[in-house]
Amino acid sequence: MISKERLLDAIREAGAKDYAVFAPVAKDAGVMLEEIDDPASINFDHVLTVNTLKDVGLPRVEALAEFDRDARTMEAIRDDDGKVLVFGSRPCDAAAQKILDAILIGEITDSRYAARRERMVMMTLACSTADDACFCSSMGYGPHDPTGSDVLLLPKGTEFIVRSHTPRGEEFLRELGMTPDADVEGDPPPELKRKVETGGLKEKLDKNFDDPIWNSVSENCVSCGACFYMCPTCHCFDVIDESGLSRGRRLRLWDTCSFAGFTKMASHQPRVGRHARYRQRIMHKFKYTVDNVNLVACVGDGRCIRACPYGVDLCEVLEALVGNE
Ligand code: SF4
Ligand code: SF4
Repeated sequence: MISKERLLDAIREAGAKDYAVFAPVAKDAGVMLEEIDDPASINFDHVLTVNTLKDVGLPRVEALAEFDRDARTMEAIRDDDGKVLVFGSRPCDAAAQKILDAILIGEITDSRYAARRERMVMMTLACSTADDACFCSSMGYGPHDPTGSDVLLLPKGTEFIVRSHTPRGEEFLRELGMTPDADVEGDPPPELKRKVETGGLKEKLDKNFDDPIWNSVSENCVSCGACFYMCPTCHCFDVIDESGLSRGRRLRLWDTCSFAGFTKMASHQPRVGRHARYRQRIMHKFKYTVDNVNLVACVGDGRCIRACPYGVDLCEVLEALVGNE
């Protein structure tokens, strides 16, 4: 087991060994996952960070290249070298990273994401508390689930049990002189009040593309995109040029199927109406990703429920879809 003080010393040591350290820090907008200089600033008491690990592997704005029209040159910009420690994310966010890995590293690989993942170690902090929006257990995970974590820290009183779950985690612990704990049990995980039954959902989605239920489940959605920006598994992006008369940069930015301009073609918009865009978001998570990589692209962290300004509740939507005949 390790005390909080010793843990903070280990994070300091990782910084001294040239790891860029990302960790939860309290800000005006809530607890954010950010690059830190001082481990003393780490917040241990939050349920979830506002933003997710997605910010580290797939930044919301990323410069891909610089160009100069007059000189007729274009140079790629890469920032994917150097080691990264992500400390203190929750198990649902680590599980989401595993889903992003399956989507972005495979038959077609996003080389920038893959390079960032290659140099990233995830030291996850198991949950001591949950709130009314958490439903990770219903999605096959849990407050102490190790999926996606290289190292999982399980709370036990004021200390932490250290478990490594990957060769990368073992190597990282060795590098910092830490020893994983074997047969020690941590504090029990928090009980999740919220549960949703999704049995049969995929079969329903396989055949209900044109069902009128999409109008009713999306009637409060205004296509603001907040649920996308908060979601740890949504990963769509756009590529734009930001330029003056001669020089400029090619940028990659997060984008979402919630927006009316997303997938707009020269001739028309194939997803007319908010119900079609909301359907795309649900289909992408609960059908298309299952078809493509055999994983549901939702970990039940509930961020979309907390974020929606109009009270669209994913669990209620899933229940309505499962119960629909
Ligand atoms: S946050 Fe709510 S209103 Fe905004 S796009 Fe998502 S479901 Fe629609
Ligand atoms: S859809 Fe909602 S609950 Fe599922 S992973 Fe995304 S934000 Fe979390």
